[in-house]
Parts: sequence; structure tokens; C-alpha cells
Amino acid sequence: MSSSSYEGRHRAPGRHRAPRRGARIPVGLKSGFLLPSAAAAALVVTASGATVAESAPTVFDLSGSVAKTRAANAAAAEFDRVESEQQREVQASAAATRATEAQRIARDAERRSIAKKQAAAAAVRKAEAARKAREKWVPAIAGAAFTSGFGWRWGKMHEGNDFATPVGTPVHSMSTGTVTFAGWESGYGNKVEITYWDGTLSVYAHLSSIQVSVGDKVDPGEVVALSGNTGHSTGPHLHLEIHPNGGAAIDPAPWLHAHGLQ
Ligand SMILES: [Zn+2]
Repeated sequence: MSSSSYEGRHRAPGRHRAPRRGARIPVGLKSGFLLPSAAAAALVVTASGATVAESAPTVFDLSGSVAKTRAANAAAAEFDRVESEQQREVQASAAATRATEAQRIARDAERRSIAKKQAAAAAVRKAEAARKAREKWVPAIAGAAFTSGFGWRWGKMHEGNDFATPVGTPVHSMSTGTVTFAGWESGYGNKVEITYWDGTLSVYAHLSSIQVSVGDKVDPGEVVALSGNTGHSTGPHLHLEIHPNGGAAIDPAPWLHAHGLQ
């Protein structure tokens, strides 16, 4: 056991070299190795080829079918996707159309509502104007002088007001009413009674001419007679009586004043 013999074994020339990958084929044996390898490879190829050849139709059919199926599935999915998208678009479009239509209907309804309210308001104004025209009061005669009042006169009750006026002066209905008397009556001479819309009854007496008949409808200002001097009269004048609700006569002066007629 000397150190020289140990080193002699472990320091053999050619042993200390860089490691190599894989086994090194001796140069002299290379062609000898390759030949059997090539033959084996050829055999393997042949065997594989035969295997492939035998199973080829099935394999190709299967893969083709799978590809076709996949393609069909993909196409179907794409079709579904496109169709769904189109349906969504159609639904969105229909929803938009419905919304627009709903807005139009709402606007039309609002316009009709406004027009209806305006028409109703106009009808109310028209009815109010018609009512005011129907219920307005006008003087029985124009420019006549008040000469004698309501009350006891020469031991006798004078139930009206007298207005001196030339014979033939037009005498008007004071408002809307109905003629309830038209004719001669002792003392009054030619007399016209009108019952107005509010129930008031007026008497016109000593008339020279009567131009209406019982039952006639008269309007405010309508000429119903001409003044005169008929009956118990001391001179041409209009005798006017006012009977609220057709009852007893009252002093016409305050009534005329209250109705803006004096
Ligand atoms: Zn009188």
C-alpha cells in the first residue's frame, strides 16, 4: 500500500477529462450500428404505415365527423348568438316603438284634455255671458220725467210711478220674460203685464198701442208697446208698477235704483 501505487491507479492518463453527454460510439463501429438501426426504423415505419393504412379510413372519418360536428356546433352557436342578438335588437326596437307610441298617446290625451278644459271653460264663459244678457235689466222708457210717486194720492192708493212722455214713445221690456196680460183694463186703459225670469211682474198702463200678446217671450229692451194717455189719465205718461213675485205692488223707485235703472 504505497502512495505511489494509489496515485498510479487514480492518475491514469486519459481518465481526467471533461464529462460527455451520452455514450460515445466508437468510430469503428458507427456504420455497423447504423445499419441495424436504419433497418429497425424501416421496419417500424412499415409497421406503423401498415397500422395507419389499416385504421386510416376509420380514423379519418372519425376526425372528420368530429370536425364537422364541432364546426356545425360552432355554426349553430354562432347562429343562435346572431339570432339572439337580432331578437334583442327587434325587442329593443319594439320596446322603443312602444315607448314612442305611449308618449304620442300621452301627448294626444294631454292635448285632448287641455282642449276639453278650454272648450268647457269657453262653454262656461259663453253660458255666463248668455245668462248675463238674459238677466240684464234695462229702462222701460228712455228720457222720461218722473212726475208722480208711489203712495196715497187724492184719497186713493197710487200703486206705481208715473213718467211724463209724449204719446207714441216706445216702451220696452225691462228684462227677459213672458207677457202675462195684454189688453184693456178699466182705469189702466191699454195695459201690458210682463212676468220676468226672477218672478218680478211689471205693469205698463195708459198705452196708446200694444205690440205683444199674452204668452209672448220677450227679451230685455224689446218694444212691447207705445206710451199713451188711455184710461184714467190726466196727460200723456207711462204708469209703471212693480210686483215682486207677482204679489202686492211696491214703490218702484228703490227697486229701479237697485236694478240700476234710475
Ligand atoms: Zn200712475
